[in-house]
Amino acid sequence: MTDIQMEISIPADNDGFVLLQCPLCGEFFKLKPRDMEEDNVIEIWCPCCGLRSENYFTEDVIELAMKMGTNIAMDRIFDEMKKWEKQFKGCGVSFNAGKRPPKEIETPIVSGIEALEMQKYKCCKKEAKIKPLIKMCGSYCPYCGVMYDEFE
Ligand SMILES: [Zn+2]
Ligand SMILES: [Zn+2]
Repeated sequence: MTDIQMEISIPADNDGFVLLQCPLCGEFFKLKPRDMEEDNVIEIWCPCCGLRSENYFTEDVIELAMKMGTNIAMDRIFDEMKKWEKQFKGCGVSFNAGKRPPKEIETPIVSGIEALEMQKYKCCKKEAKIKPLIKMCGSYCPYCGVMYDEFE
């Protein structure tokens, strides 16, 4: 069971931003997937705490990934058991896989948390959406880690 592939779609808001969460400070922010996928973007700085993390999946996304993983695994196990059912047929052993196990409900990700304000980062000519309070106190460019305050 090493070749499990999952595709999770994280919906973008009207401006094309997706919601992310920093695992280090727990703050939410939004970036454009198109910006993040550019070749010269290797690392992303959290605009709130200015630290770099390997991924910024929100808890919703992680939870959904876990559920999808469980469902795929359960399906595989069930399919295996169904095969055994056939193999055992006619050799005097009765083996019944029974009903397919109920699935974990895979709730689609909602883009949620709209109370974020746009912050432009001139250094990288890119934008992020962050909490107004963090914008006021100063934030970090997600693409190079430079500190910005409100007036820049
Ligand atoms: Zn952070
Ligand atoms: Zn920058």
